[in-house]
Amino acid sequence: MNKGYFGKYGGMFIPETLMSAILELESAFNYYKNDESFNKELQSLFNNYANRPSPLYFASRMSDDLKGAKIYLKREDLNHTGSHKINNVLGQVLLAKKMGKTRIIAETGAGQHGVATATAATLLNMECEIFMGKEDINRQALNVYKMKLLGAKVHCVDSGTATLKDAVSQTLREWSVRIDDTHYVIGSVMGPHPFPMIVRDFQSIISREIKQQILDIENKLPNFVIACVGGGSNAIGAFYHFIQDKEVELIGCEAGGRGVDTLDTAASITIGKVGIFHGMKSYFCQNEYGQIAPVYSISAGLDYPGVGPEHAYLNDIKRAKYIPICDNEAVFAFEYLSKMEGIIPAIESAHAIAYAIKIAPKLSKDKIIIINLSGRGDKDCAAIAKYNGENINE
Ligand SMILES: *Cc1c(COP(=O)(O)O)cnc(C)c1O
Repeated sequence: MNKGYFGKYGGMFIPETLMSAILELESAFNYYKNDESFNKELQSLFNNYANRPSPLYFASRMSDDLKGAKIYLKREDLNHTGSHKINNVLGQVLLAKKMGKTRIIAETGAGQHGVATATAATLLNMECEIFMGKEDINRQALNVYKMKLLGAKVHCVDSGTATLKDAVSQTLREWSVRIDDTHYVIGSVMGPHPFPMIVRDFQSIISREIKQQILDIENKLPNFVIACVGGGSNAIGAFYHFIQDKEVELIGCEAGGRGVDTLDTAASITIGKVGIFHGMKSYFCQNEYGQIAPVYSISAGLDYPGVGPEHAYLNDIKRAKYIPICDNEAVFAFEYLSKMEGIIPAIESAHAIAYAIKIAPKLSKDKIIIINLSGRGDKDCAAIAKYNGENINE
């Protein structure tokens, strides 16, 4: 495989001005990932600050109700700041600190990655600036407030559709004009090499824990690992240590939105075409001219028009399967898990739950499904109420 590639996907399609920053990052990561004291420090942040290891919880009422496979939930929703995103930001901000950087920049869509980044930056005493589309700033006032409360500066991006993809573009531009003291914390397994590898390695703590936990509890590997896919970081984190275990089926659930036969979708693998954007070669939702298409999902965390290159590769070699889940199915799963287990899932994670609800009844009782519960759903209650025609005060 070429350096920085997963099959034909990935690469580093970047302006020359970023090349030295990218090479510096690559060599720092290759050094620190094998450095004992770095890994100790990161593990200590995971355990003492982020609340790891997250439990692997047997969803007994859900399993009984569906009358099929045993269902376990990997509780990334219980991490500090409420999702898996903290795993990556703690890793990257600590790495940046070791590299002598003093300033962190990041993009954010719904604001979840921005809040996590602001959290890690303030903890490790770094300056922090977040770039966010104007549309998203208007929709996500609470997260904007939290980022400011955590000491970050929030910049409004009003180019293009003024959403996540434009925020990523702007942050890449911002990085290229100030690389000496600045690290760009990318929020998912995307962007130019080495980001997809770095983010995957920091998120792979999820499958490292799952493997240990399921062997302790069941003394065997799961039959399915299911996760939602936006850029793909929680999914690759949950898949990674099972990729070599061919008997474990890996399933990624993309945002089908209002349906993959409509324009209101974000299912990049299902309907996308191969292209190059944001520094990487992968699948992207495109129009007939090859321009990046506007995307839609009820879930703000899944409406990115592309997918990480390692997922594109796992799809092509058929090691993982990617399935679109529509808004109505995700909303059903959101309500189902709340009522069944007393756990309100993030609407992103509800996409993975929805697929488990479909397949569990068809499986025998000795089969095991693990769902990666990527985050908690407090942030989504107002939007789901609205979807159902109710209005609640946020
Ligand atoms: C951001 C987010 C996602 C989507 O990002 P991935 O990189 O695909 O994991 C999924 N779930 C939650 C809770 C998120 O906050």
